[in-house]
Amino acid sequence: MSQTPFQMAQAQFDRVADLLDLPQDARDLLRNPMREYHFSIPVRMDDGSMRIFRGFRVLHNDGRGPGKGGIRFHPEETIDTVRALATWMTWKCAVANLPLGGAKGGVICDPRKLSEREQEGICRGWVRQVARSVGNVQDIPAPDVMTNGQHMVWIMDEFEAIHGRHEPGFITGKPVGMGGSKGRTEATGYGVVYTLREALKTQGKKLEDATVAVQGFGNVAQYTVELLNKLGAKVLAVSCYDVKDGCAYTYARKSGVLFTELKSITDKFGTVDKVKAAELGYECLPGDAWMEQPVEVLIPAALDRAITEDNCDKISATVKMIVEGANGPTTPGAEAKLIERGLVIVPDFLANSGGVTCSYFEQVQCNMNYYWEREEVLEKLEKSMVSAAVAVFEMARERNVTLRDAAYMIAIDRVVKACRMRGWIR
Ligand code: NAD
Repeated sequence: MSQTPFQMAQAQFDRVADLLDLPQDARDLLRNPMREYHFSIPVRMDDGSMRIFRGFRVLHNDGRGPGKGGIRFHPEETIDTVRALATWMTWKCAVANLPLGGAKGGVICDPRKLSEREQEGICRGWVRQVARSVGNVQDIPAPDVMTNGQHMVWIMDEFEAIHGRHEPGFITGKPVGMGGSKGRTEATGYGVVYTLREALKTQGKKLEDATVAVQGFGNVAQYTVELLNKLGAKVLAVSCYDVKDGCAYTYARKSGVLFTELKSITDKFGTVDKVKAAELGYECLPGDAWMEQPVEVLIPAALDRAITEDNCDKISATVKMIVEGANGPTTPGAEAKLIERGLVIVPDFLANSGGVTCSYFEQVQCNMNYYWEREEVLEKLEKSMVSAAVAVFEMARERNVTLRDAAYMIAIDRVVKACRMRGWIR
């Protein structure tokens, strides 16, 4: 039987715990979440009936600071997935060196089948159940799968009503003007590019000489392509999903893909207009063709499990590096084969940590009630991402391990040290 997400998170931890030779008490503490809340959320539906939704909040570890992690709305949400994601948030915040722990929340529901008013009821009901366990100095939620800035504002409003005070720093991902941070939209994609630039430097290469293919044209991928264009790297192909046809296509052009141009012919569902693309000189190829292009760098920034043992042999021989923009885009089997081939894989929880880094900046700005300009946010983001990346590259070189192992080693070591100093372990 295949592993559940939480079993996978535990197995990854166990492997690195061995590399770090961690004592048993540290393993016992970090293999499991410190706290979990499971609760019912009664909501009056538009037809007058009452429905009870199940909600969760898991705090994996807060040794380094308040928990941080999104709230997912999903019809197939499970506590197992929420536990795994909370664990991964602990490592992501630690590798990014943010003073935050890891948490995650969820509700079993399908917002596509609920009215706005019913969704508002779930948001307010969710926070009523955890209002005393979440907060600015305890645990800070954010948007995730199928939740957005509006959901965060409803949750904030209810939380502030319960506590009788303004506390916008208790939740992030809010719209700008409602406590949100400028620069958040582009933060993850830009962070991917800063990390790529630093990874190339370690090989004596320059970003402006790099050729890149990107999978996806959503939030992360778009801002990745935009900054790659700005900094002079050549994007030769972008693959994205066509909602009308129900499959993905790769748009490739030898002179390079331009963000503004591709964006101008993409509808709000992310589907590219094929006729206009052809007029602009883009070749329309099959969905997987992005990985077959003669580029040096691949950036999967769409889905998990995009690069598998079954398709990784298609990756062009020119490819030397994969920078994971999405979460979990390379399966462990594919990773082993590609490392054998000599590819460098920059792991997701380092490469895409720009999003959570900017969420941390949002929290800081809310707490000061003083908001920075976009340039200031992006400048701080770049500095933070570069120092996180450099630490991982140095660890990989010193210990002769993969970048993923190095990132895990740094993250787990930081959390262990914090827990040890607190007296939670010896
Ligand atoms: P999104 O929904 O905005 O974009 C997803 C993109 O994937 C769309 O452009 C879609 O066309 C494309 N896509 C879907 N199936 C595809 C396929 N088979 N082939 C090619 N393209 C396909 O999502 P996003 O926010 O950009 O997130 C992308 C990934 O990055 C996810 O794994 C997410 O968990 C991760 N991530 C996002 C953030 C963030 O701040 N948005 C932060 C960290 C990690």
